[in-house]
Amino acid sequence: MSRLVIIGSGPAGYTAALYAARADLAPIVYEGLQPGGQLTITTEVENFPGFPEGVVGPDLMDRMKRQVERFGAECRPGFIQKVDFGRRPFVLDDGDQQIEADAVIVATGASAQLLKVPGEDHLMGYGVSACATCDAAFFRNVHVAVVGGGDSAMEEGTYLTKFASKVTIIHRREEFRASKIMLKRAQENPKIEFLLNTVVEEMLGHDDKRRLRALKLRDTVTNEVSEMAIDGCFVAIGHKPNTDVFKGQLDMDEKGYLKLGHGTRTNVEGVFAAGDVADAEYRQAITAAGTGCMAALEAERWLAAR
Ligand code: NAP
Repeated sequence: MSRLVIIGSGPAGYTAALYAARADLAPIVYEGLQPGGQLTITTEVENFPGFPEGVVGPDLMDRMKRQVERFGAECRPGFIQKVDFGRRPFVLDDGDQQIEADAVIVATGASAQLLKVPGEDHLMGYGVSACATCDAAFFRNVHVAVVGGGDSAMEEGTYLTKFASKVTIIHRREEFRASKIMLKRAQENPKIEFLLNTVVEEMLGHDDKRRLRALKLRDTVTNEVSEMAIDGCFVAIGHKPNTDVFKGQLDMDEKGYLKLGHGTRTNVEGVFAAGDVADAEYRQAITAAGTGCMAALEAERWLAAR
């Protein structure tokens, strides 16, 4: 039994835990499948205030974890597989045991989306990846592709040039979602070339071994289909909120992002949400941290009022 359980350990979860722990709520943080969240698979974070020289993602998350533990939050490895928000106290199930909680903060974040083209699943981990930070070092002195036109694609493409001999960024349009500064950095990198108005239709492996060999591409203007020999393909096309476990209990939009009422309140009284799980728009570490703080303050007030 806990007064407050926080599900998720990204900037939102840890900031909520920091505030809740300092308010003597002794929160329990379930760290989830990717402890530390998305920043643990990013490289340099240059836009988190207080780090004028930048900070490496995993390092930032490690600092956040140590900070919450200093104030008495309990960080538990574990993934919440089932929740019952229809009962009071709420019941959460991590597969091994059930835990009851008076209040819950959902900070489960979002995960990388995939292209869902033939070959992608089969070749994932065999030349295909959704995380340059994790896998770039396996692609030294070879030609790799990055799919996407947002900040993730620019960031991954730029990072990959440290290892690969050539990086081709494949984007389905001519305009980019990426911020000007990140796009410019990629455009000015001599190892990066852009292939625009192009979609990946299939990922092709070698006949004799499980390894990516080429991408089947289609030009969206001419409809021409071609094949590009490639050694690696990084998919960087955005994210999906991690809300499957809350289906039928918490209100969400058509993409699965949680819908919030005032502040961080969900449709269930006593359940609050923070970070990317309820934010399709800003999706920044600092906004996640900010809403984590809000969720903890609201949970604290709600618990006090009961
Ligand atoms: P995003 O901004 O949503 O961009 C996704 C890109 O993938 C878009 O260019 C989109 O094309 C393309 N795409 C989506 N589905 C596709 C499909 N099925 N086939 C081909 N292309 C597809 O996602 P993101 O780049 O991951 O960025 C998400 C948020 O995180 C943004 O707010 C971004 O600023 C932030 N971010 C910040 C940093 C940083 O500051 N260091 C780094 C990474 C991300 P269309 O444009 O045609 O829709």
